[in-house]
Amino acid sequence: MSLAEQFATVNDQVRLACERAGRDPQQVAVLPVSKTFGHEVVRQAMALGQRRFAENRVQEMKEKALVLNDSSIDWVIIGYLQTNKVKEVVRYAAELQSLDRLDLAQALDKRLQQAGRSLDVLVQVKSSQEENKTGMAPELVPQFLKALHDYDTLNVKGFMTVAENTSDPKRVRRCFERVRLLRDQCQNELGDALPVLSMGMSSDFALAIQEGSTQLRIGSALFGQRPRAG
Ligand SMILES: *Cc1c(COP(=O)(O)O)cnc(C)c1O
Repeated sequence: MSLAEQFATVNDQVRLACERAGRDPQQVAVLPVSKTFGHEVVRQAMALGQRRFAENRVQEMKEKALVLNDSSIDWVIIGYLQTNKVKEVVRYAAELQSLDRLDLAQALDKRLQQAGRSLDVLVQVKSSQEENKTGMAPELVPQFLKALHDYDTLNVKGFMTVAENTSDPKRVRRCFERVRLLRDQCQNELGDALPVLSMGMSSDFALAIQEGSTQLRIGSALFGQRPRAG
């Protein structure tokens, strides 16, 4: 299938899943995950009208950003961010979906102030018990959001999560539900507006739509199998 056909297929599947869930497809965006794919693939996707691309490694985002050199692209970081990479994020990224600790928020704020800009962020929530999953424990999130009120440079838009890696749809769905309920709780208790739920990938986006996802991070279903581990 061509890239255009892959995008059309995913959009059809998203529309169908929205219909089944009784949701408006306009409320559910697809965020293409271009990690491991070269800048020429990104360029092809741009020709299809895409302007936002997600990467999990800062170095890879930077390389593509320098080659493509197009200010209309919004780069989104979705992978674990080391504090020593903050400078590049401030330089090249429009959004960070993997904010998971206070010292990272502090480092970002300092650099953002120096650069005179702000950054859209999502707090990454750990929604399963898996050892290898990153993200903040749900019970720590309300306090964390309160602490983030002190950082004017960080526009907190909502939450991101990666569901448990299992073939049991009930368990996957529970991960997404947990994050949606946490979002509702935080909105009610703190009065924060948290409209964005970045939940769902190629294998589980229909379940994420059922649980209120507003943004699907989709890699392999759009671009094909990755040449190497992402
Ligand atoms: C790679 C990645 C995705 C996309 O995964 P696919 O299964 O290829 O759709 C989504 N979210 C995160 C955090 C990722 O690292």
